[in-house]
Amino acid sequence: MPIVGIGVFMLDNEKAEASVLAALKDGYRLIDTAHIYGNEAAVGRAIRKSGIPRDQIFLTTKLWTADFPNAAAEIDVMLKRLDTDYIDLVLLHHPAPHDAEAYKAMEAAVAAGKIRSIGLSNYYEKEFADILRVASIPPAVVQNETHPYNQWRSLKPLFDRHGTVLEAWYPLGGRDRYGRGGTQTLFADPVIAAIARAHGKTPAQIILRWHLQDGNVAIPGSSNPRHIRENIDIFDFSLSDDEMAQIRALDKQQRFSTF
Ligand code: NAD
Repeated sequence: MPIVGIGVFMLDNEKAEASVLAALKDGYRLIDTAHIYGNEAAVGRAIRKSGIPRDQIFLTTKLWTADFPNAAAEIDVMLKRLDTDYIDLVLLHHPAPHDAEAYKAMEAAVAAGKIRSIGLSNYYEKEFADILRVASIPPAVVQNETHPYNQWRSLKPLFDRHGTVLEAWYPLGGRDRYGRGGTQTLFADPVIAAIARAHGKTPAQIILRWHLQDGNVAIPGSSNPRHIRENIDIFDFSLSDDEMAQIRALDKQQRFSTF
């Protein structure tokens, strides 16, 4: 699984298609969408238009909670919407009634070759343990709100024990429907700003490099071609142990979202 990808939350079809195309041109190979984002078809179109072979792209989508009782049928619908023969990773979007059944349906879809790997989103200690009790395939990924102010130090050892990778949504602090969210707060944090100056990189790049070195997969969202390029340009420098420790010390279990 690639360690940096592009997320398309809150992008309309036109913007999602353009953003994914720009990202694929810039070397991204991981795309994160969801049924509830309403832009799976646009993501499928961008993949086709890019001309990049399907097997070089890691495509993630998420089953919405209302579809948990009909997960098997919904997986087929997602395949059609995405215009693809298989999906690399499907997540249950949130804990909800019937999630265990939906998880079993995803396992069956793995056996049928429709899905390559499965995981969860917005699952914490208890909900993760509940799924493990019914799972034959442990979750490959749990996607939770993760950034320097909310690092999930308690969850990561638990995930490690099951070979589950933490994937960061809101990796830069996130957005809300008015374009705010915590991004500006994190970019202005004095520790992050100072490390950015020391490396001649942007605060966004420092945060994404921190995710990478901390073992998180990150899926920053943007429709701005300059930001899309910047967010994957993080492989020509590294943070020192001291810089990693400084960012680790920023953790205050502060979330920017309410879900
Ligand atoms: P994010 O932390 O990636 O921040 C996005 C905000 O930062 C946007 O306003 C964007 O314009 C800005 N930005 C991006 N790159 C920048 C840069 N280099 N410089 C300055 N500003 C920059 O938050 P997000 O996009 O909301 O979340 C990322 C992805 O996570 C989503 O697209 C989606 O795929 C996923 N997500 C999942 C869930 C879930 O429940 N599983 C919830 C939210 C988001």
